[in-house]
Amino acid sequence: MTAPSRLGSRGKSAASPRPSEGAGSKLATTVSRHIVTDVIERGWPVGAVLGSESELIERYGVSRAVFREAVRLVENQQVARMRRGPGGGLVVTEPTVDAIIDAAVLYLHRVGATLDEVFEARLVLEEIVTELATLRLDEAGVTKLRALVEDEASGEVKDHRALHAMLASITGNPALELFVDILNRVPLLYFRDRSAFAPTTLSASQHAHARIAAAVTAGDGGLARHRMRKHLQAEADFLRSRRWSHQLLPDTVSLGGASTNKRAEDVARAIIRNVIVDDLPVGYLLGSEGELIDRHGVSRAVFREAVRLLEHHRIAAMRRGPGGGMFVTAPSADAVTDVVAVFLARRGMQVADLADLRMRLELVLIELAARRIDAEGAERLSQALEREKHPTDIEFADAANDLHGVIAALSGNRALELVALVLIRLTRLHQIDRLSDAVRRKVADEVPRTHQGIAAAIIEGDGELARHRLRRHLEVLAKYLR
Ligand SMILES: [Zn+2]
Ligand SMILES: [Zn+2]
Repeated sequence: MTAPSRLGSRGKSAASPRPSEGAGSKLATTVSRHIVTDVIERGWPVGAVLGSESELIERYGVSRAVFREAVRLVENQQVARMRRGPGGGLVVTEPTVDAIIDAAVLYLHRVGATLDEVFEARLVLEEIVTELATLRLDEAGVTKLRALVEDEASGEVKDHRALHAMLASITGNPALELFVDILNRVPLLYFRDRSAFAPTTLSASQHAHARIAAAVTAGDGGLARHRMRKHLQAEADFLRSRRWSHQLLPDTVSLGGASTNKRAEDVARAIIRNVIVDDLPVGYLLGSEGELIDRHGVSRAVFREAVRLLEHHRIAAMRRGPGGGMFVTAPSADAVTDVVAVFLARRGMQVADLADLRMRLELVLIELAARRIDAEGAERLSQALEREKHPTDIEFADAANDLHGVIAALSGNRALELVALVLIRLTRLHQIDRLSDAVRRKVADEVPRTHQGIAAAIIEGDGELARHRLRRHLEVLAKYLR
């Protein structure tokens, strides 16, 4: 456990990156992260009481207002919930996968990720899955895989995602399982119903699945990857030709999290649809509180619950005072990244799996970045390097990871960027409070120099060299993480 005295100094030292948030909000984020770390370290005891409100306020040494803000964050992340009354307190809860997936899908909608980006991301992740599944397949896996292929052939299994989900589960890597699931759901959102898939497409996909399974079973990773790539490309081509609408938020996307109020969710969803479909600009005034309450015909309490959801998903926020009202906010990956990373920690993501996946994914991202680099991208890289020169200004973990986030952004693929940000966030969950000061100093010393070399190679457009330098860098970091 961390001594409360460290929280204040952290809150202060994290002063730079998000000017829109007040100091209280930053401190609340820090407190919420400590609660999360605490829950993880205790082995996620669902139902256990972490403490009463007053006990926890004292433990973290913050004001009641800051603490309640932190509670809202952990409630949104489905880590814990405040239970009122006698015997109450902050109770550990179990996050549900559906809420996590919905948050990610909503984020991809909000930033307007294209179907092409989703397809590219699927290709990248499922190639990794196929290779890892080949390496990790055991006797029980062979039996499962063969049974599924048979059931597909006999028409018993009609969901084409089943094979992809099974391969992902064979890798034993919770992040791959989750992201394969997410990216396989997104394209379906573009269709009114599953009958959009012609029978010929289904039989072609069954055939491809059988051949992929055969190559995985035979232990031929290269062939399995090749077949997976062909299969996904064929499916992407088909979906592109049948695409019937651009970015439409489906009613089935739940805004879940801490909300239990159906009316509030409906109001929030109506406003989200409004923002996304009309492509409203950041800073656009949606209306005053009174106007919006009238328009949606709900009580003030229900409306405020809707506001919480909209603020959590970074769709819109209330500004109080004269000239106030509800404004469209800039999309941010922060909230969704936190939710997903914490969920994966709950799923028991192993440090070795994390390091392995980061390596594979970031090697792809850096190659895309080197290929797509332009003047603006080069400027963003230099700015990131500049920020790292003053590590006292920002939190250690941010300094060590900032460049990686920028590289992910420069890949030009918002879906892959989200995956990378989640993995970076998970790395932080493992790092914070665990590294000795000596190791921190060593990393802080070494990282800026290595990062400069990596950035230089990207700016030169030299993907090979960039990959080489990044691989060596991540190997060194992986050693510290163990
Ligand atoms: Zn398939
Ligand atoms: Zn680095």
